[in-house]
Amino acid sequence: MDNQSFLYDCAIIGGGLAGLSLSIQLAQKGHQVILFEKNKYPFHKVCGEYISLESWDFLNSLGLSLEKLSLPIIDTIHVSAPNGYVIKSPLDLGGFGISRFSLDDLLCKKAKEVGVTIFDNTKVLDVKLHDEIYQITSNSNTFQSKLVCGSFGKINPPFIAQKKATEKGKYIGVKYHIKTDLPFNIIELHNFKDGYCGVSKVDNDTYCLCYLTTAKNLRLNQNDIKLMEQNILYENPHLKKYFTESSFLFEKPVVISQISFEKKQAFNHGIIMLGDAAGAIAPLCGNGMSIALRASKILANHVHLFFENKISKDELIKNYTNEWNQNFSNRIKIAFYLQRLFGKRLTTLWSLKLLNYTPSLLKQIISLTHGKKF
Ligand SMILES: Cc1cc2nc3c(=O)[nH]c(=O)nc-3n(C[C@H](O)[C@H](O)[C@H](O)COP(=O)(O)OP(=O)(O)OC[C@H]3O[C@@H](n4cnc5c(N)ncnc54)[C@H](O)[C@@H]3O)c2cc1C
Repeated sequence: MDNQSFLYDCAIIGGGLAGLSLSIQLAQKGHQVILFEKNKYPFHKVCGEYISLESWDFLNSLGLSLEKLSLPIIDTIHVSAPNGYVIKSPLDLGGFGISRFSLDDLLCKKAKEVGVTIFDNTKVLDVKLHDEIYQITSNSNTFQSKLVCGSFGKINPPFIAQKKATEKGKYIGVKYHIKTDLPFNIIELHNFKDGYCGVSKVDNDTYCLCYLTTAKNLRLNQNDIKLMEQNILYENPHLKKYFTESSFLFEKPVVISQISFEKKQAFNHGIIMLGDAAGAIAPLCGNGMSIALRASKILANHVHLFFENKISKDELIKNYTNEWNQNFSNRIKIAFYLQRLFGKRLTTLWSLKLLNYTPSLLKQIISLTHGKKF
């Protein structure tokens, strides 16, 4: 098949969890799908790698057989203030740990198996709509499709305008894989000045240590990650212990900059958005991956109705946007405000002390950050 002249039903830009899971569902429903990913699989990605158990059944329904992977099931959270004060709580629903290196690769293999055409190492540079046909230009060629879905993550590609965040609203994410000593069922969340760091077990007997902080913190430390860690993260005694007593498996951390949590839209530039491209949730709530997966399920159903000629394109966009807002708008807003509570030395300490004396409030906050199984 000549990929350039073929008219695909749906082109998907970005092969993270949202894009790959959408591609699998659409292919399973009989549609011709092409997916573009700018990196080459398998690859590491900045992410805390704790997935809420709400997504377990869904991932299995895509054909992943998660139970065969002996993944750590996480049922307890420990949260510390910048001075090291800790509170502990059970997680009602809880989550599991798996590296993005493994998970995205498993999904990519599944997508190929069900017939998705995958172009990895291929960056989409532009999308144009002429006479109801989309022209997708990548760094290698031009392709055509009837629909385009955008699952390109937190940072808009140049052909989609993005509101410029102020330095205050800009964050960086840093991730390491380490060997350390922490029970497999615990996720730890350690706060430091203007940031927080999660530590929890993933596959391969490895732990993920991943933090989010402001771009300003890095700038104030000569844009030197090591220096920033020593000057700021080490103030939290738990983090100092991880950094000085664990073995680090990467030569350099995986880093993403220019992250912002500005409001986005589920439909923009003629493209239907999902995952972080439609709206990124503050990772403090540990749930962006489940939101991305759930959005793919919602969108796959609407896209299928469109291709079955049961709804028009306008109805597809309207129905999907409404369902997206109903499911995710509040979760994203709550996470945004929760994030503001953390990372300030005294506010974090007082909030944790209050939550320690009101376990029902703590339970309520945790349940707000996890969705229902789907
Ligand atoms: C520091 C940090 C920690 C986090 N921790 C957690 C956690 O523990 N649990 C959780 O549930 N969520 C967490 N999240 C959020 C989670 O990582 C995201 O919500 C999730 O990855 C969103 O999936 P996605 O498919 O929308 O985007 P992504 O997984 O980011 O995938 C987007 C893909 O698009 C590709 N792409 C981008 N532009 C183009 C282009 N022009 N052409 C082709 N390809 C392109 C990218 O290479 C990328 O692979 C965290 C986020 C951060 C920043």
